[in-house]
Amino acid sequence: MIPPGETIGILGGGQLGRMIALAAAQLGYRCHVYAPEADAIAADVCAGFTQGAFDDTAALAGFAAQCAVVTYEFENVAAAPLAAITAHAPLHPPVRALEVAQDRVAEKSFVEPLGGRPARWAQVDSPADLAAAIAAIGTPGVLKTRRDGYDGKGQWRITDAGAATALDWPGVPLIYEGFVTFFGEFSVILVRGADGRTAFWDSPHNEHDNGILARSTVPAPPQILAQVAEARQLARKVADALNYVGVLTLEFFATATGPVFNEMAPRVHNSGHWTIEGALTSQFENHVRAICALPLGATALAAGGAVMDNLIGDAARDWPAILSDPANHLHLYGKAAVRPGRKMGHVTRLVL
Ligand code: AMP
Repeated sequence: MIPPGETIGILGGGQLGRMIALAAAQLGYRCHVYAPEADAIAADVCAGFTQGAFDDTAALAGFAAQCAVVTYEFENVAAAPLAAITAHAPLHPPVRALEVAQDRVAEKSFVEPLGGRPARWAQVDSPADLAAAIAAIGTPGVLKTRRDGYDGKGQWRITDAGAATALDWPGVPLIYEGFVTFFGEFSVILVRGADGRTAFWDSPHNEHDNGILARSTVPAPPQILAQVAEARQLARKVADALNYVGVLTLEFFATATGPVFNEMAPRVHNSGHWTIEGALTSQFENHVRAICALPLGATALAAGGAVMDNLIGDAARDWPAILSDPANHLHLYGKAAVRPGRKMGHVTRLVL
C-alpha cells in the first residue's frame, strides 16, 4: 500500500492528469507531473513538475526516483522508455495495457480471442492492401491510423473504391474498418483494484460531434442498457487478462446484433467525467485508490442521473452564462489558448 503523504507521478500534463491530481490531493497525496510541454495544465495543481520528452530515459528515471508510484493519463507514450520508470517505481496500469491500446490492430487482436466483436477490419500498409481490404469488407468504411489517433483525428471515411484511390496516401501503418450501423455509442468504465476486485460505473450514452465526444448521459437509454452486461463481460476479461490496476475504459457501438467493440483506453476517460458529481466515488478518486492499493470507493449513482457536456473551443467562453444556472457544475481546465476542437472544460448537471 502507498499511504497518503507519498508522491504519485503522472505521465502527461493534460486535463485528465489535472483531475487525477485534484482527487489525489483530497486523499492527502502529492503529485508530480512529467510532460513535454512547458505549460502543462496538470502541473498547475501539482507539487512537482518535470518537463521532458517521453523518450528521455534519464529524465524519466530522475522523475520516477521522486515518486512512490507512477501512472499515465495519455496513452500515446512509447512503451520501451518506460523501463526507466519501472526500474524505480511501480507503474499502473501495466505497460502491456498501453502497448495493446495504442495500436488499433493490437487492440482488436487482443479482444477477439476474449470474445470481443469489433467491426470487420484489415491491416493496411499500402494502397494495394487498401484495395484488397475494400474488396473483402466492402464500403462504406473508415480508414484509420493504427497509432496516435484521437478525437477523430487520423481517420478518413471511404465511401467507395474511387475515394480510396483519390486519397493522399498517409504513409503510416493503417487499419480499414467496415462502417458500423449503430443506434448509439456507450462506454464501459471500470476500476480494478490491486487485489483484482473490479467495480463498474453506470455506462454512459456517448454522443460525438465531428469525432469528438460532445455529451455523456447516465443512465443510458434502455436500448443501450440492454447491451451493457455483455460489454462488461468483455471489459472484465480484458482487465483480468492484463492484470490491470486502475481505471479502464472500453467504447462500444450499440447495434441491432449487440455491442460492437470500438476501442479501449487504459486510463480515466472523458465519458467518465460525470462521475465527479454523479457517482459516489469518481473515476479519478478510484484510479488513485487502485494504484495506491487502497480499498475502492462505491461506484453507484449519487443522483437519478447526470449529463456531461464538453466545452469545446469557444464554448468555454460561455462560462458566465453557465455559472448563472446554480445547478451547473463547471470545470475549466486552465488552457491558455482556445482553439477549435480543443477540449477546454466540461459542465455536468445532475438529474435529481
Ligand atoms: P474512434 O477514434 O475510433 O473512437 O472514432 C471516433 C468516432 O468515429 C467514433 O466514436 C464513432 O462515432 C465514429 N466511428 C469510428 N469508427 C467507426 C466505424 N467503424 N463505424 C462507424 N462509426 C465509426
